[in-house]
Amino acid sequence: MIRRLVDLHSHTTCSDGSATPAELVRLAASAAAAAIAITDHDTVEGLSEGRAAADKAGIEFIPGVEISAEFEPGTMHILGYLVDESDKNLNAALEGLRLARRERNPRIAARLQDLGMDISYDEVANLAGNEVVGRPHFASLMVRKGYVTSIKEAFDRFLAKGAPAYVEKERLSPSDSIALIHKAGGVAVLAHPYQMKLNDDDTKDQIGHLKDLGLDGIEAIYSRLGPSERDRYANLAREMGLLVTGGSDFHGTFKPDISLVNGLGDLEVPYELLLEMKASAARSRRGVD
Ligand code: AMP
Ligand code: ZN
Ligand code: FE
Ligand code: FE
Repeated sequence: MIRRLVDLHSHTTCSDGSATPAELVRLAASAAAAAIAITDHDTVEGLSEGRAAADKAGIEFIPGVEISAEFEPGTMHILGYLVDESDKNLNAALEGLRLARRERNPRIAARLQDLGMDISYDEVANLAGNEVVGRPHFASLMVRKGYVTSIKEAFDRFLAKGAPAYVEKERLSPSDSIALIHKAGGVAVLAHPYQMKLNDDDTKDQIGHLKDLGLDGIEAIYSRLGPSERDRYANLAREMGLLVTGGSDFHGTFKPDISLVNGLGDLEVPYELLLEMKASAARSRRGVD
């Protein structure tokens, strides 16, 4: 039997992806996925276009959003699934996060200029063409202008946390991120847990803490993880009574090695995981747990 696969993590032109929501959904349908989630950073703007395209293409659509929470030493991203995208609280908070980007991004441009690069905020904002301007847009312009040869090099040498052009931005706490998603009727999942940059014991402790705050699941099946790491996070999730999810984190040309649905070629996120997520969301809405 052919396994039905899904992709629960992707970005569009509404944040730092290069495919429009409709194009992305069509790509998922041509990769024979049974369902696709759009999880743009700090915005739900692409969801209505994505849903309409999914209805046409006959693929199930899962509304999502990705929120970057305050965290050290690495990064903590919380995915919100099945959120009500008209929720007022959610939209107000996302608007605040977009304003924080507007405050941060000219400072990144200034750092790059100090480092001798002809990179202006206006050019980067133009390239992004939306309100969610992010570091991948800077990286892309740096490649285009010949300052680096790849997006990866732009991050490694300049844009990554700790690198010379990195600028902090205001974020929500993990607790507020999870509460916001829950209040909008959604399911909260810790994205790519390895990016927290914690050792095994601290990872476990941190996930336990997040569970106490209401976390519902862990993204164990992720493009950049090998099979044993995927198993390890999936087992950890099961042990802790959390959902297991997975996705490619497709960004189109902004992460050129990652394909939708297939990741680096070996990604397989079974449809059954989405069924468990939907069941969990339905239980929470009925107030069962
Ligand atoms: P920002 O929203 O501006 O903080 O940028 C976050 C985006 O940058 C996410 O899509 C990340 O996947 C991407 N990103 C973060 N670190 C790296 C890296 N080292 N290489 C490539 N992309 C990265
Ligand atoms: Zn991104
Ligand atoms: Fe992320
Ligand atoms: Fe992402």
